[in-house]
Amino acid sequence: MESSKVALFPGSFDPFTKGHEDIVLRSLSLFDEIIIAIGHNSNKKRYFDIDFMISKIESAFKDYDKVKVMMYDQLTADLAKNTKAKYLLRGLRNTTDFEYENSISQVNRYLNSGLETVFLITSPELAHISSSIIREVHKYKGDVSPFIPYDL
Ligand code: ADP
Repeated sequence: MESSKVALFPGSFDPFTKGHEDIVLRSLSLFDEIIIAIGHNSNKKRYFDIDFMISKIESAFKDYDKVKVMMYDQLTADLAKNTKAKYLLRGLRNTTDFEYENSISQVNRYLNSGLETVFLITSPELAHISSSIIREVHKYKGDVSPFIPYDL
């Protein structure tokens, strides 16, 4: 029997956006399980608390049994081995994303030879959404609700 297709969607998700949500929803037909994994780097200060963000993402996907959410503090390539994920899921908005994603996907495959990165091109209406801009708008009390798939 073919083993189930597990994809890991790693990121900072500070915060998780409608652009990220779109990538997950569109990948539902490709994979049996999608693990959204928030990288925890103790040297890097986050804007949104990690446990808070996990609960918000869980609320956004409460109707989707295939979608799991976790945090991690190790190499993404090792997390993929530990979770039996053979695929990394990433979104591409533009050439800047491409340059960066190209390098990390090469490194990840070097570290874990069975691992394939699958890229989905962002939906055009969501391509302008970035976590950093949302943080900035939120900091100055702007309304970020059009950009995130949950209530803050
Ligand atoms: P990282 O810090 O690992 O880049 P992010 O949380 O910023 O994590 O992004 C996770 C993934 O989602 C990356 O592949 C990024 O290119 C992609 N992404 C970010 N914003 C969007 C968007 N608006 N549409 C599609 N993909 C996106």
